[in-house]
Amino acid sequence: MSAEIIDGAAIAAEVRREVAARAARLRERGVTPGLAAVLVGDNPASVSYVSAKAKASEEAGIFAQTFHLPASATQEEVLRLIDELNRDPRFHAILPQLPLPPQVDERAVIDRILPEKDVDGLHPRNLGKLLRGDLDGPLPCTPHGVQQLLLRTGRDPAGKHVVIVGRSTLVGRPLAILLSNKAPGGNATVTICHTATADLAAHTRAADILVVAAGRPKTVTAEMVKPGAVVIDVGTNRIDDPSRKRGWRLVGDVDFEGVREVAAAITPVPGGVGPMTIAMLLVNTVRAAERAAGEA
Ligand code: NAP
Repeated sequence: MSAEIIDGAAIAAEVRREVAARAARLRERGVTPGLAAVLVGDNPASVSYVSAKAKASEEAGIFAQTFHLPASATQEEVLRLIDELNRDPRFHAILPQLPLPPQVDERAVIDRILPEKDVDGLHPRNLGKLLRGDLDGPLPCTPHGVQQLLLRTGRDPAGKHVVIVGRSTLVGRPLAILLSNKAPGGNATVTICHTATADLAAHTRAADILVVAAGRPKTVTAEMVKPGAVVIDVGTNRIDDPSRKRGWRLVGDVDFEGVREVAAAITPVPGGVGPMTIAMLLVNTVRAAERAAGEA
């Protein structure tokens, strides 16, 4: 039996409509939510992510501006820009597009953003709030998007065994905290796997909900999945594909064709978690503007 395909693009569109309604209410009160994106260099993937985020923002009634620095920008120059954006009342949210060039310390940049303008939810204060179960700050976009994909398709993680492959600060660890919190949308029993995990397949096969954020195609194959499991594929990997005009295509971390024959439901790549990440970025932007306007 073939798995149900979880349509992340459709669910993200629903979230974006909700954001647009909130943005419209703010504009009626004279407040236009603003997002400043900081792009350093010309990495093609980063350029395309930033333009997708700016387009989605504008469609939702959010004012978006991209500040583009050359690949040679120094750490001081990036930090100076962050300081200016922190002071600029047009922007309620600041997005440094990662990765930054090697001469720029990503953590120093994230730490410099005012916590209330930290749209990625990666500032230590916001990560600390998440750890304490205080969920009123900005939540990291991809983990929050994964949680919303589950909840909005009627798959409450409460009481389920969630196995996450990957322990990054961006995805795996915040997701583990979000889903195991004693709060609505949480209450799962969570296992985190990584490259030092002994017998990865034994863990993934125990999952009711398996989330894969490893950054490597085919990290999870059919025999590693319990029949009837829900599989969320966070991975976005470019692989060569001479049949495509651009010469590449996107694949996830899961062997989609094999796993869809075993799982009950699975997210595709593209069209799964990716659109949800952008939608949750818009949620964080509008929420920051609501807070600044004294609404939230
Ligand atoms: P990352 O920082 O490279 O972390 C990858 C994690 O996976 C690490 O913890 C690593 O373990 C673990 N891992 C890698 N190979 C493994 C294996 N064979 N077995 C077990 N664990 C393994 O990556 P990330 O930033 O979390 O991103 C993960 C993937 O998601 C990437 O493809 C990225 O492009 C994608 N992503 C997508 C979105 C989206 O919106 N769709 C957003 C963010 C990221 P160690 O810690 O032991 O090295």
